[in-house]
Amino acid sequence: MNLKESEKICPICGKDNNCQHGQDNCWCNSVKVPKHVLDLVPEDKKGKACICKTCIEKYQ
Ligand SMILES: [Zn+2]
Ligand SMILES: [Zn+2]
Repeated sequence: MNLKESEKICPICGKDNNCQHGQDNCWCNSVKVPKHVLDLVPEDKKGKACICKTCIEKYQ
């Protein structure tokens, strides 16, 4: 299964989010994203694209 281009882009910073969704081990499966970080994601991108590690660390 291939990701759509938009799903590989972090919705907050617009850079590659390194998501491995559709493969066995996406790092985002084991990371809990704080709610205030999720709130930064535009409504239409919520639940579609992963936030990148850098943003999670930056806004934590
Ligand atoms: Zn980001
Ligand atoms: Zn992911």
